[in-house]
Amino acid sequence: MLDLAIVGGGPAGLTAGLYATRGGLKNVVMYEKGMPGGQITQSSEVENYPGVCKVVTGMELMECWPEQCMRFGLKHEMKEVKRVKKEKNFILELGNGETVKAKSVIVATGSTPKRAGFEGEDEFLGRGVSTCATCDGFFYKDKEVAVLGGGDTALEESLYLANICSKVYLIHRRDQFRAAPATVQRVKNNPKIEFILNAKVKKAYGNNMGLEGVIIDQQGKEIDLKVPGLFVFVGMNVNNSVLKQEDSSFLCEVNEWGEVIVDLKMRTNIPGLFAAGDIRVDASKQVVCAAADGATAALSAISFVRES
Ligand code: FAD
Ligand code: NAP
Repeated sequence: MLDLAIVGGGPAGLTAGLYATRGGLKNVVMYEKGMPGGQITQSSEVENYPGVCKVVTGMELMECWPEQCMRFGLKHEMKEVKRVKKEKNFILELGNGETVKAKSVIVATGSTPKRAGFEGEDEFLGRGVSTCATCDGFFYKDKEVAVLGGGDTALEESLYLANICSKVYLIHRRDQFRAAPATVQRVKNNPKIEFILNAKVKKAYGNNMGLEGVIIDQQGKEIDLKVPGLFVFVGMNVNNSVLKQEDSSFLCEVNEWGEVIVDLKMRTNIPGLFAAGDIRVDASKQVVCAAADGATAALSAISFVRES
């Protein structure tokens, strides 16, 4: 039986493994279906991870994390976890049909920004097309950018970008917004934000250096918007499927968006089950925050295992 099973090997899962093993837990396994590192490995420029003073790619940032985090005995198994169940202990059902028992579990499976589906979206992702204003907004300081979406995230991030960029074009497929009315009003009042409504992004184009612009279809009228940055905020998928039970209920409490509800110690409402990083409620969706959550969750797991 494992003392601790960690599901997900991004910044939260890796850091949880480091703290758990360095803090004395034995038999700690991190299940990561791909290579450890998480979604930040898709980023071409990271400049807001403290202590890393150069601008690095996500791959470079993650280069030595696995080695450091496994130095104290954390084991990595490159396996997908299908489901986490609770009987007397936790049972992890793995993709290959195996089951594993654990006294405690940290779920750190992250989140995935939804794709809008226009031509060039994947090609320019990380090279002009971004899903994170906090991460990439600064690269467009005093430049014009576009935002796609009409929800709270798109409108709030437009306000954030308007503080940095010279102009923000807000492209939305309707003329009504899902975002809170107060937020819509704040956006309307901001002279740096211009609406392009009833409009779809047809295509992102550019060259080897990155994005040069987007072609927009506004009710049959084609607009060629020359911007080096397009921020796509068309919703997020929280990777919470491992918590789904046979009857489609969740093992622990989640909010209306499927984010796992935790307290400040990353404890869910199920004793011994913790969540860390982008998957948890109110996550700031930053590497530094995910890592901090992982550390907190591991310290809580150590206390749980010692006391149980
Ligand atoms: P993730 O990094 O999403 O890691 C979760 C891991 O769990 C993944 O490796 C996944 O393969 C694994 N997993 C999922 N389900 C399973 C399963 N069932 N079984 C096994 N493994 C599973 N943040 C910054 O601070 N600065 C930036 O500049 C920045 N830029 C970004 C640029 C891009 C393009 C993107 C997409 C994100 C960026 N972020 C940035 C956000 C940052 O990457 C995330 O906040 C952070 O990675 C979240 O860490 P996490 O460990 O919670 O989840
Ligand atoms: P969201 O509410 O689902 O909004 C997604 C937006 O993207 C919608 O306007 C949608 O258009 C548009 N869209 C979806 N698919 C698209 C596509 N393929 N092409 C173009 N546009 C597309 O997502 P979100 O803004 O990320 O918010 C998620 C949840 O978190 C929401 O419930 C939100 O209220 C909440 N949230 C709350 C706060 C806050 O309270 N401060 C902040 C952020 C998020 P349509 O409107 O036409 O469907």
